[in-house]
Parts: sequence; C-alpha cells; structure tokens
Amino acid sequence: MKIELRAIQKSFGSLEALKPFSLTIPSGTFVSLLGPSGCGKTTLLRIIAGLEEADSGTIKMNDQIIYSNEKNIHLPPQKRGIGMVFQDFALWPHMTVFENVAYSLKATGKKKGLREKVDQALENVQLGDYRERYPHQLSGGQQQRVAIARAIANDPAVILMDEPLSALDATLRDEMRILLQSLVKRLNMTAIYVTHDQNEAMSMSDYVVVMNAGTLLQEGTPEDIYRYPQTKEVAAFIGKGTIWDGHLQTQGDETYLKVEADLCFPLTNNTAKIIHNEPCTIVVRPEHVRLSQLMFNGAQTGVIESVSFLGERYEVTFRVGQKEKRLFAYSYERFTPGQQIYFTILADSIHFIQPLGGITNE
Ligand code: ATP
Repeated sequence: MKIELRAIQKSFGSLEALKPFSLTIPSGTFVSLLGPSGCGKTTLLRIIAGLEEADSGTIKMNDQIIYSNEKNIHLPPQKRGIGMVFQDFALWPHMTVFENVAYSLKATGKKKGLREKVDQALENVQLGDYRERYPHQLSGGQQQRVAIARAIANDPAVILMDEPLSALDATLRDEMRILLQSLVKRLNMTAIYVTHDQNEAMSMSDYVVVMNAGTLLQEGTPEDIYRYPQTKEVAAFIGKGTIWDGHLQTQGDETYLKVEADLCFPLTNNTAKIIHNEPCTIVVRPEHVRLSQLMFNGAQTGVIESVSFLGERYEVTFRVGQKEKRLFAYSYERFTPGQQIYFTILADSIHFIQPLGGITNE
C-alpha cells in the first residue's frame, strides 16, 4: 500500500507541531521517522492512523484520498486497514492472550474465521502456546508480541509502530527488531516506525526520514543519510563524528582542506574547480581518521581524552587544534587518556556538506 502525505499541517494552540509536511512512502517499504523528542513523529503517526485530525493537507492510500479537510473526506480509523503497535503494549489485563487478539478483530466486525486468524497471528509472533495466559503471566517481550499479533491479525496493509521496543531491555530489543523486520517483509506490509534511536532506524529501515521541529530535514536510505547528510543538523543527529567549518585552498596543482587555524589536509582525489579560500563544511566520521602513537608524514597531533572498548575495536576521543575540537576515531590499538597521538583525516573520503557541487565524495 503506497501512502502519500501532502502538506499535512497540525497545530496545538499556538504550537505548530507539524509544518506543512509531505512524504511519499512506496508500497511494501519499512520507513522510520527519526527525530528528537517533540519533533512531531507521534502526531504524524496518529494523523495517518486517523486517531488525530490534521488541520489541513491530504492523505492518500494507493492513490485514493482517505483524508482531506478541504474535500471533507475523513475515512474512520477502522476503515483504513492499518494496524498499530504502541510503546506501552496497551493489553487488556483481564483478557487472555487469545481474547486480547480476538478483541480487535471483533471490534472491526470481522467475526468470520476469527479463531483461525487469531491463531495465525499468534503463530506469526511465535506465541502459539500462550493462548490461555493472561498479560501478567508474560514477560515484557511476550506482551509486546501479543500487541504485534493484535495489530496484524486483521491482515492490515499498513502497520504503524510508535517506539515499540523502548520499554524492552537491550537483548530483547535486538530479538524483537529482527522479528518485526522479517514479519513486515513476510506479510508484505508497508511499515512506518517511530523512533528517536538512530541505530534502530538505520538497522531496520529501507528508508529513514529525519525530522525536527515539525519539518522533514532529509529522507533517504540509511546509507545515504549516514554518508551524505545534506545539513549540519542531520550530520549531527546521525552517527558519531565531528563537523568542521574550513576552507579549500589551492597551491599550485595541489588542493588542501584547511580547518581550525592550523590543520591542513591534502585532497588528492577531487575534481573540483576550487576558488582559492572557498569555505567548506565537512563531516569527519570515526572511520575517516587514521591514528598512530608514532609520528608519520603529514600527521597532525592531538591528546587522547577517552577510550571506550567496543568489542572488536576501541572508540577513541581526542582533542585537537587551537579551539580544542573533539574528534572520534576507531582503533584496534588501546590508547591511554592523556597520551599524545598523531593523526590524519582521510580527506578524500570525508563528506562535504558545503560546497555542494564540485567535490567528489567517493
Ligand atoms: P516523543 O518522541 O517525545 O514522543 P514526538 O516527536 O513523537 O516526541 P509529538 O508527540 O508528535 O512528538 O509532539 C509534537 C509536539 O506537539 C510536542 O511539542 C507536544 O508537546 C505537542 N503535542 C502533542 N500532542 C498534543 C496535544 N494533544 N495537545 C497539545 N500539544 C500536543
């Protein structure tokens, strides 16, 4: 089911929770809405579900208008063919697992084949043996699986999920992430997933939509959003790294990237026609930094601030330059806080936010 949002706008009093917001979600894709608390993610989800009314704008599902204030079209929530999963499970405590899932089907008036549908939904979330239990007899992960079964029992074409894993511990979250991803693909649903956790968004989604203050900042594949952020805001919100303002300079045939007052890195692989002293903004991810305890040709120097063990490698934070900028790097070697190190930026692989044209980022 393709979903199209056109100029959706919503205010609560004087607060504009969604500025005119447009987005097209292709059928069968898993899309995450990612953004800080209060940016309007839940409001958008509730508007799509029909639980909240937008002030203006249009929503289409497979080219059919399901909401338009101007045209006075308001398809009620139960007719939109949408399943929803919330953060707090929202199960009825006095009903068994079976009854909880059956309840939502009964509410939509579809009693035919009810038992089979509930059983199938419970099998899909691997809870076939838990039909007669009550919610308090289940773990948090199992309760969330009941909530998922309830959302999919009616064969919805679209599933909306609002931070469904945030009440679970880390191990369970990993397990549930995999279950949700495979379920969405297996049942060929279009999924919209709200989260403020960038790792969750990046690892689960076909597309990520980065939001802030009721607007869409950037949309794209997780790889695009991480590698080619279009603004400083997106770059800062996604992944670790340092954003630096600097200048591109030419000297004879050579081009240099100059940041801070005194840090200079050669650019060898660019096709830019660079105007001398052209301003630039760059994103330096940890994987763009080469670190060493020994001085090497062209190295700059910095002082280690902290070292975190990540399993197969270390994440190293160090300070450089006159303005004491912080850089992140990965290393297989363990460094010690306070130690002087030598580094270079692999300038040809970093991403330029500015200038937008002219520089090859590959
Ligand atoms: P979170 O991740 O914290 O859930 P969010 O991105 O989902 O945040 P929303 O819940 O959509 O954000 O809220 C967007 C803005 O609208 C917030 O400033 C919120 O306080 C406000 N808001 C949401 N619902 C209402 C309401 N019913 N009445 C008044 N203000 C509201």
